[in-house]
Amino acid sequence: MTRPNIDASKLTTTLTQTPKELLDEKELKFGKYFTDHMLCIKYTEENGWEAPEIKPYGPLAIDPAAFVLNYSVETFEGTKAYRAADGTINLFRPDMNLKRLQRSAHRIMLPEFDEEQLLECIKELVKVDQRFVPKEHGYSMYIRPNFIGTEPNLNLQYSREALLYVYLSPVGPYFPRTVKLFANAKEARAWPGGVGNFKLGGNYAPAMRPAMEVVSKGYDQILWLLGDDHYVTEVGTMNFFIFWVNSEGEKELVTAPLDGIILPGVTRDSLLSLARQWGEFKVSERKVTMPEVVAALEEGRMLEAFGAGTACVICSVSEVLYEGRQLAIPVDPANPDAVFGPMTKRLRDELLDIQYAKTPSPWTIPIQDNN
Ligand SMILES: *Cc1c(COP(=O)(O)O)cnc(C)c1O
Repeated sequence: MTRPNIDASKLTTTLTQTPKELLDEKELKFGKYFTDHMLCIKYTEENGWEAPEIKPYGPLAIDPAAFVLNYSVETFEGTKAYRAADGTINLFRPDMNLKRLQRSAHRIMLPEFDEEQLLECIKELVKVDQRFVPKEHGYSMYIRPNFIGTEPNLNLQYSREALLYVYLSPVGPYFPRTVKLFANAKEARAWPGGVGNFKLGGNYAPAMRPAMEVVSKGYDQILWLLGDDHYVTEVGTMNFFIFWVNSEGEKELVTAPLDGIILPGVTRDSLLSLARQWGEFKVSERKVTMPEVVAALEEGRMLEAFGAGTACVICSVSEVLYEGRQLAIPVDPANPDAVFGPMTKRLRDELLDIQYAKTPSPWTIPIQDNN
């Protein structure tokens, strides 16, 4: 028997009776302010996916014994809608996020879903709340899908009931500044055979104490090192990139490979693809260790380093504390006040131009207004 999958044509919308006032865009803080509506889609093993609902944003009713509350059966995503200069709204590569959600869900025994139908429902949600999509350049609407196991059952099998819901948070630009990292080889964010390559809620709670410890020491984020050779994996919750002259004397943009430890970032993939299109230097996905970074710094081969993710886009790294040594990472030697290195800035500008639909690209998915 085939049970129903998500069907966007069955979507129902119940509008709020108490619309929120729009905040002044300048006051938007990341992830603290939500729009009027959310999308909810329920699943049971018996009956499959129910009709999707857009309804007023508000608390969920969840059984106290639900799988998500006991065993962390939760995965999430983060993508954004951007308002172009002409007022139209676009998504950026949302298919990549929904594929990743599918893979994460599969890992924790959450049910399969139709990615295209879910995307249609998300577009509809953004349309319903389009007045909240900020107008200023650099601002955007963060889209957060959550997928949870809701069956009330303490037996450690898998959740036969689930809820996929999506809500929206208008966000301002990250204040552009360079970041200082504390290299951590003591705790691991992810490890071989683990689940670091999936966006599971369970990966993030254990990273909070190490992250807050480095903040209390005056650093912004952790540079996560793994193993005795100090493999440089990620920075905070961003993918990490180095632009250098490698030990072979070649100019190279390098980031860690998708070896099961690294989160396959949409921003990561997009930047690799832009740099490969330029064809001006080598672009590699391979393992780099901290001793190699130290050697490059000592030999003057390090050019730029940055973290990349949907929330901040790109952040340049200006310092790494490693084994008690303060390592200065070059940003832009020609301009001491620069917050981005020249290559980093070029990548960032090209990416933003696509996201804000200044440069036409198949990565830009318009939210058509049928009204
Ligand atoms: C979400 C995330 C990223 C960035 O992924 P994007 O798709 O570019 O936003 C990188 N690392 C970790 C650990 C993440 O959770």
